[in-house]
Amino acid sequence: MTTSTTRWHNWAGNVLASPSGRSDPTTVAEVTGVVISAAERGTRVKCVGAGHSFTPAAATDGVLISLDDLTGIESIVPTRDPEGNVDGADVTVWAGTRLHRLGPLLWDLGLAQPNLGDFAEQSLAGAVSTGTHGTGRTAVGMPATVVGLQIVAADGSVLDCSRESDPEVFEAARLGIGAIGIITKLTIHCVPAFALSAEEHPWTLAAALADLEGFASSADHAEFFWFPHTDAVTVRRNTRLPGDADLRPLGRIRELVADEFLSNEAFGALCRAAARRPSLTPRLNRVTARAMSSRAYTDRSYRVFASSRRVRFREMEYAVPVAAATAVLGDLRDMIDRTGVVTPFPVEVRFAAADDVWMSTAYRRDVCYIAVHQFHQMDHTELFRSAEEIFLAADGRPHWGKMHTRTAADLSATVPHFDDFVAVRDRLDPDRVFANQYTEQVLP
Ligand SMILES: Cc1cc2nc3c(=O)[nH]c(=O)nc-3n(C[C@H](O)[C@H](O)[C@H](O)COP(=O)(O)OP(=O)(O)OC[C@H]3O[C@@H](n4cnc5c(N)ncnc54)[C@H](O)[C@@H]3O)c2cc1C
Repeated sequence: MTTSTTRWHNWAGNVLASPSGRSDPTTVAEVTGVVISAAERGTRVKCVGAGHSFTPAAATDGVLISLDDLTGIESIVPTRDPEGNVDGADVTVWAGTRLHRLGPLLWDLGLAQPNLGDFAEQSLAGAVSTGTHGTGRTAVGMPATVVGLQIVAADGSVLDCSRESDPEVFEAARLGIGAIGIITKLTIHCVPAFALSAEEHPWTLAAALADLEGFASSADHAEFFWFPHTDAVTVRRNTRLPGDADLRPLGRIRELVADEFLSNEAFGALCRAAARRPSLTPRLNRVTARAMSSRAYTDRSYRVFASSRRVRFREMEYAVPVAAATAVLGDLRDMIDRTGVVTPFPVEVRFAAADDVWMSTAYRRDVCYIAVHQFHQMDHTELFRSAEEIFLAADGRPHWGKMHTRTAADLSATVPHFDDFVAVRDRLDPDRVFANQYTEQVLP
């Protein structure tokens, strides 16, 4: 049933929308009904996940569909390696399932998603649809773990696609920025449950840049946070252990101090101070960097990968070729020093292996993801504009869920399968039932 709704905004608060109605279907048949009835009325439809994209990817002035009531695991098929040993399972998950709920469900089945981002509030379909990734020199982003999808197309038909069945729809829909259809379920390849041994410690940007590729390969999942206006870096290295390894989770008090206080409460206070007196930011960043002490712990993979983020911010993230990343980070540091733009948020540096997903930022190339952030009460315009110039000069590709200014004309020249993607979209949605202001920016 479609009900009237109030205004909608994304998590960061930088995207506002006024949907004409809202629907919370509980079955695939209900999703189909909503799409058909909206299409008949000439109304547009958009599925929203958790609303955690910084771009207007999920915004709509038509019917907002939420799949928050279409969640959980539907089925599991064990998979085998070439020698015939079970090496995980293909797990079919209802599209609205939040990642933070999926982790424990999979763990109870002896399984895990191979990699995750640093945050897990997103829905599985939303995360996949924008190319959400974590870090790891040999780890691929989330869409590359998708082996099958079910989508409701603009004419209401239900399509089951995979590499073998309807491969072009599959390639487009597994990173479809909401433009191909409503995903109702996804089959993702999962690996045997594993633990992560986490190590965090302070370092310097100069040391990280001295051998960035060496750093990227120094652990299964390596990343660092650089505090602009300083040379300070916090390094995070996660090493994979078997699922039955002894766990040494952070004690509750330590966890509270580190995550709740440092990452959120105290950090929020420092950001507000920076917003009131921007000139204090370099000094405040030195305080934040010093507060990030060393720690080591071992826990279930999904608990280590993700943490909570309550301080609101805006973000731009580009994937650049790994070989270009050292120069890009150097240019970013020089730009910040030269222009005087300030941000109390660290720059996050992560890595991913090449994949074969049509719209992926890592399509056929190993990449380094570089993300700049700005506190939501501070102006991001100049920082993001100057950073984007640097990313583009290094052949960077923007994350589909994070702020950027690229248009269809720009993207068609840099995204290898852009025209193939657009052809699938044109075939499945000729009347643009799934269009919104974002698809109008990034697609013809
Ligand atoms: C605090 C924070 C931390 C983040 N950390 C990371 C990170 O570590 N790594 C990373 O890569 N990104 C990260 N992101 C970005 C985030 O993962 C993506 O923007 C992701 O798309 C958000 O998922 P969502 O469920 O909120 O989707 P939404 O933002 O609600 O939607 C995103 C897109 O997916 C489409 N969509 C949603 N559901 C469906 C469906 N069922 N069928 C078809 N289309 C659908 C929407 O229409 C929209 O186009 C972070 C964002 C925030 C706010």
